[in-house]
Amino acid sequence: MTSISRRHLVTAAAGVAVSAAAPRFVFAQAAPAPAAPAAAPATGPFTLPPLTYAANALEPHIDAKTMEIHHDRHHAAYVANMNNVAKTNPQLGTMPIENILGNLNALDDSIKFTVRNNLGGHANHTMFWSIMGPNGGKPEGEVLAAIDKDLGGLEKFQTDFNAAGGRQFGSGWVFVTVTKDGKLAIETRPNQDSPIMDGKRVLMGNDVWEHAYYLNYQNRRPDYLKAWWNTVNWAKVSERYAAAKAGTLTI
Ligand code: MN
Repeated sequence: MTSISRRHLVTAAAGVAVSAAAPRFVFAQAAPAPAAPAAAPATGPFTLPPLTYAANALEPHIDAKTMEIHHDRHHAAYVANMNNVAKTNPQLGTMPIENILGNLNALDDSIKFTVRNNLGGHANHTMFWSIMGPNGGKPEGEVLAAIDKDLGGLEKFQTDFNAAGGRQFGSGWVFVTVTKDGKLAIETRPNQDSPIMDGKRVLMGNDVWEHAYYLNYQNRRPDYLKAWWNTVNWAKVSERYAAAKAGTLTI
């Protein structure tokens, strides 16, 4: 666009604004300005799973505003981006997500990077929302036994998990992986990568991207990591553990 045509556009827009604003009370009556646009509506095979608890349910550990932006904007964007890719690659919408992520090299180079980031983000966040909730209790039963056996007990596990999450330079995740035998391990990944990309399964994980905590914790990632344990829904983690051993755990 030339500078002349741009100036014409600006002038035209200003003219419209002036005429619309002719009554002096128009600003008081005007509809509230819409919020900054969220990601484009997700139309396609990929859907944003709704939170199963209120956005403020994890306060004071994770504030409602962070949850809203994180779920409604960030995760929604990954979903929208995947639906966009699926328009020209419809096979993506028909395959199990874990199969796509576990075989990224099978994808055409033109979409590999986009799928890695956005489908990885979709899988990671879907897991993340599902293993959190208010009044999440404590680990029990087989999960607790595995934590004791493989991770040195709950206290050591939480200390090591937080340390690993703290060491992850820049954006990424700290996970607990689970084998079909039920063996647990702490692993980190950068960006939106997932152990699923290495054929593994994720029991649980915490998001250490700044968008997960910055409004409330700023640079204090260790404080966020420590507080996050108050949001873990251990009943859900137990369900995932049982599914892993049954071979039915997906993302
Ligand atoms: Mn995130």
